[in-house]
Amino acid sequence: GPSLVWFRDDLRLADNPALTAALERGRPIVAVYVLDEESPGIRPLGGAARWWLHGSLTSLADSLERLGGRLTLRRGPAEDAIRELAASVGADAVFWNRRYGQAEREVDTRIKSSLTAGGILARSFAGSLLFEPWTIQTGQGGTYSVFTPFWRACTAGPPPRAPFATPESFPGFSGPIASDQLERWELLPTRPDWAAGLRETWQPGEESAHRRLTTFLHESLARYGTERDEPAQTVTSRLSPHLRWGEISPFQIWHATEQARIGLTGTAQASATRFLTEVGWREFSYHVLFNSPRIATVNLRPEFDAFPWPKLDERVLEAWQHGRTGIALVDAGMRELWRTGSMHNRVRMVTASFLIKNLLIDWRLGEQWFWDTLVDADAASNPFGWQWVAGSGADAAPYFRVFNPELQAKKFDPHAVYIRQNVPEYGTDAYPAPIVDLGETRRAALAAYEQIKGMK
Ligand code: FAD
Repeated sequence: GPSLVWFRDDLRLADNPALTAALERGRPIVAVYVLDEESPGIRPLGGAARWWLHGSLTSLADSLERLGGRLTLRRGPAEDAIRELAASVGADAVFWNRRYGQAEREVDTRIKSSLTAGGILARSFAGSLLFEPWTIQTGQGGTYSVFTPFWRACTAGPPPRAPFATPESFPGFSGPIASDQLERWELLPTRPDWAAGLRETWQPGEESAHRRLTTFLHESLARYGTERDEPAQTVTSRLSPHLRWGEISPFQIWHATEQARIGLTGTAQASATRFLTEVGWREFSYHVLFNSPRIATVNLRPEFDAFPWPKLDERVLEAWQHGRTGIALVDAGMRELWRTGSMHNRVRMVTASFLIKNLLIDWRLGEQWFWDTLVDADAASNPFGWQWVAGSGADAAPYFRVFNPELQAKKFDPHAVYIRQNVPEYGTDAYPAPIVDLGETRRAALAAYEQIKGMK
């Protein structure tokens, strides 16, 4: 019978271990994506992520069709969808690349046992992480909660495997297969269509991901180490949404960067190391997610459960969400996010710190807003980043380190280029006065922190 390849967070043909295994098996292949919003514990996708998914599936389907195949779409609890599809086409093998969230792993485990019980071969592969969480252990066999020793342990071993070749043909299954229509999933916003800025900024899909990587390596890698913190520069790779959906793999990024490094010296060479270290932070986020599955809702440091958050003022939260706080760098970041579905890393830290430590709003509300609005919204990196800023997370910034958004702007956007790009009325009467006093609110936050300090 045919092999079934179940695409999930790996919407690519190149360097796809599950697809490679199916090709090696030499039977016709049924490629499927399942939109699963029903299995227990699966976090519903945010709006920007749904927009991205639509584009990415369109692109994957096109690529498969160019090779003579097609992409089958199913909706519903994955367990039912996969079992039903395997039965209807008479598949005797199902291949996929692994996921690392708890709910997703539970779904996959159940499917694996039910397929196996039915006499169908079920195999999973490592496609999305260079170092799967359980393979990296401390000397005592424990898990890491600090990045530097984690990354040292990762890079001490053999280098990540080389990427698998891009398939040149695709032995599509010729029988009839029922498929949903992508348009029917209504992943794109309609009333209103808020995605114009996303369309201008991004092109989902595997080809576009590789163009970005190539451009980045040629034009920016050498400057990455020195300019990566300046939001007005377009020096970072902007690969995060492509990585989130697996349109490009970390193996491909790793090896292409190592290749590019050969031509570099001095600070430019150090830039390449720095870039791969950032890719390492993504690996670390997944290590933490795997070991603390409730990272999006539960403080990793339990003393933060007692943090005295004041009663929420919705208008203040909305001012932050829509970039109307009167603090220019914060507003610039929040408007960039709303318009483009993304925000520079330095500004993510500043806007998050402002929400938590100047507006005294629970980090979980910020995490949810980012989850809904980021095209790269990621189940590991997003809550990890928020808990890092809050001080409640793994290897986090200490709570008492409060970013001053005005000093951050002076340092990283000295000519207000980024601010003006995003806040056109900056410097005019139309721009609002600050909704809070930075010094006063900082003192209030530190006093609140004093109450939980030392608790465990
Ligand atoms: P580059 O600087 O080019 O880095 C290359 C890749 O490394 C990125 O694409 C990303 O996959 C990874 N990476 C870089 N920095 C980090 C980091 N600090 N943590 C984890 N991975 C990193 N990143 C997401 O991918 N999804 C999120 O939902 C997300 N939410 C965040 C929330 C907060 C509050 C903070 C402070 C950070 C968050 N990040 C998130 C991390 C980081 O801001 C983005 O990965 C980065 O801005 C993406 O831009 P880039 O691709 O140009 O990064």
